[in-house]
Amino acid sequence: MTAAEYPMLVHAFPELAAEIDELLRADGDDALAGVVGGLRYFGRCTCSPTCLLTAPRSSPCSFVAELEREADVVMWLWLDATATTVTHIEIIDGRTLAPPPDSQDSHGHHVPGSPDVPSASEERVPNE
Ligand SMILES: [Zn+2]
Repeated sequence: MTAAEYPMLVHAFPELAAEIDELLRADGDDALAGVVGGLRYFGRCTCSPTCLLTAPRSSPCSFVAELEREADVVMWLWLDATATTVTHIEIIDGRTLAPPPDSQDSHGHHVPGSPDVPSASEERVPNE
């Protein structure tokens, strides 16, 4: 897959993207808030269940920006060497992160890391 085939973060996790934008702007970091709308979701990072890749796996994470709400750290934004784009987003406030509704690719495979969602499955053929 090329980068352009990955979903936009704002489509995969609209509430999270809005929250990041809000927290960055509250912090006065309008420049970084401006890049959130252009981030793509590259899948789950392996470092924690609530870490999302917003750059190809193994992209550098040279800097970290802490996002706080009422003095509690909500998440870390890992930034590349230029500190102008986010390479992954690690949510550390203890919430669980639901997979995006379209976390299946066009062939219907589960994205690794997403829980099994019970669905009307055509795979359940009676054993006769
Ligand atoms: Zn990570």
